[in-house]
Amino acid sequence: SIPLSYFIGIGFAAKRGLLFKGSQSLDALAGIKNVVFDKTGTLTEGSFRVREIKEEPPFDREELLEYVIHLESFSNHPIARSIVEAYKPEAKYSVVQVQEIPGMGIRGVVGKRAVHVGNDDLLHKMGIRHRNEVCKLPGVVHVAVDEKYAGYIELGDALKHQAIDTVKELNKMGIQIYLLTGDSAEEAAKIAGELGIKHFYAGLLPEDKFRILREEVMAKGLTAFIGDGINDAPAIAQADVGIAIGNSSSHAAIETADVVIVDGNPWRVYEAIKIAKLVRRVTL
Ligand code: ADP
Ligand code: MG
Repeated sequence: SIPLSYFIGIGFAAKRGLLFKGSQSLDALAGIKNVVFDKTGTLTEGSFRVREIKEEPPFDREELLEYVIHLESFSNHPIARSIVEAYKPEAKYSVVQVQEIPGMGIRGVVGKRAVHVGNDDLLHKMGIRHRNEVCKLPGVVHVAVDEKYAGYIELGDALKHQAIDTVKELNKMGIQIYLLTGDSAEEAAKIAGELGIKHFYAGLLPEDKFRILREEVMAKGLTAFIGDGINDAPAIAQADVGIAIGNSSSHAAIETADVVIVDGNPWRVYEAIKIAKLVRRVTL
């Protein structure tokens, strides 16, 4: 039978928008050794501001933007949604053969042009060459038109303001903290530096997140993974405690998670561990 203190703990957590689906995750959280965070939408707001658009001649800026908005309107990725919200399309192109490439970007035929929008890995995969200096810019999404490099869009994403305190307090508890992201090494290093996270892995595909979680982290002890479910639902399902965060969490993530943070606040991770430890102490 489940001790009464567990019900009290779960009820207390629920009032804070921290939903436990069962009591087992309380036991696991009480003894948690590693906490692994996804970056975009988890530690950062996941709502991007467009900072700059840089076309590569002979491509025209407006034309480039039109292709991008048309294509990204088919994607649910936070980057895509931010671009689509920022601009109104002027042209009317048909968009066909749309394919999202998880952790990399999206492609499709816009009007009569083959358009790719995504990260450096996507360009590599397509064999599209570009000047070396542009691929090292953090927060940049590249555009290719008819398999030619056409320019980039620079986007800024802000840290959630509670992220710094969360990492600080988890560190004090002696928990090992990891950052896993599909974003570039440059962007990952910047965020990890700002938060004081020592272990970080960048340029990851969903299956890489899953593999690193299992082989590099879970092998060292009980592990919680926190993600928004965009490209990380498999990791949420795999972790000892899978936590889905935020109002934009994907359906699959909420379904497989053990714990759901309703309001998107990463500080709830610290609270969850505190509650778990307290409940255990009362019970033992
Ligand atoms: P994270 O692991 O930080 O949450 P993702 O795995 O969701 O990031 O995405 C990794 C990278 O892939 C993004 O930083 C972006 O460069 C690229 N990307 C993914 N989807 C898209 C898209 N729809 N449009 C443009 N770029 C995308
Ligand atoms: Mg994410």
